[in-house]
Amino acid sequence: MNEDVPSAQANLPTISSAEGYIDLHLHTTHSDGLYSPEQLVQSAVNKHLRAIAITDHDTVEGIPETAFFAQKYHIEFVPGVEISAYTPEDGEIHLLGYFLDHTNSALLQTLHQQKMRRVDRIVRMVERLRLLGFDIHLDMVRAFAGKKGTIGRPHLARAMVYCGIASSIDDAFKEFLSRGKPAFVPKANITYREAIQAILEADGIPILAHPGLSKKDRIIPTLIELGLRGLEVFHSDHTPDDVQRYMQMVEELDLLATGGSDCHGSGKTPRPLIGTVPVPYYLLDRLKMAKASGRF
Ligand code: AMP
Ligand code: FE
Ligand code: FE
Ligand code: ZN
Repeated sequence: MNEDVPSAQANLPTISSAEGYIDLHLHTTHSDGLYSPEQLVQSAVNKHLRAIAITDHDTVEGIPETAFFAQKYHIEFVPGVEISAYTPEDGEIHLLGYFLDHTNSALLQTLHQQKMRRVDRIVRMVERLRLLGFDIHLDMVRAFAGKKGTIGRPHLARAMVYCGIASSIDDAFKEFLSRGKPAFVPKANITYREAIQAILEADGIPILAHPGLSKKDRIIPTLIELGLRGLEVFHSDHTPDDVQRYMQMVEELDLLATGGSDCHGSGKTPRPLIGTVPVPYYLLDRLKMAKASGRF
């Protein structure tokens, strides 16, 4: 295989890009990723990617560190975030924000609120597991989450595997942590409107993450009214049909298209890895043009 071209997943069309490839959906140890910013940047360089964005869950804390290593290893870097949002009628969606000012105080206030709610939720999930008779403590989960960034179910799952409560991360989700399972507690998130507003206030470009996974196409017009500017067309969990449908939607509605692997690092279970979804560089050019024109 040509080392210069990221290997396309079997279910995705191969897209050739003379300008190179990018990965605009990546998690670091600042949220539930397993790669530190430096490891992530090094992997991106090894995959010959031209640009990367980090999109940690509900935190921008990893941006300065990743920007530093991106500069050191000579790879283009896009600051980003992935914000969880919720409404009782339509459920949870994830909003990506690109090129945002990670020092914006309104954004930081919103993300701080999300971060605290994440801790409360994990506390309640640990309580549920203890009521089920398992010997697990918040401190163990914190040990997997690290001191920085945001906590989430994957950290709890890792702690559960460590304690022998589950045989694998997958097992932890399937048996306990997924919606409807005994330790599941819903996240108390901000609304779609608040999430989009927070990204816009920080001069970021709001994009709907993995719409093929959230399966809420009917709300896209409402999100556009709220300020959404694009769709994540390319994603590890998107089928060729998804890619085609969302690309068409983007063209018809004059939206921006983005894409990325949603890599959380290499774990025991096969996870999408950095650079495994071929996303052509020209999409980043369009994103940059939108940012420069201020029309978003
Ligand atoms: P949270 O934000 O705390 O609700 O956790 C959601 C995160 O859990 C996602 O971003 C994924 O990284 C991870 N996740 C969700 N489902 C699974 C699964 N079945 N196996 C492993 N990780 C999962
Ligand atoms: Fe995640
Ligand atoms: Fe997501
Ligand atoms: Zn993600």
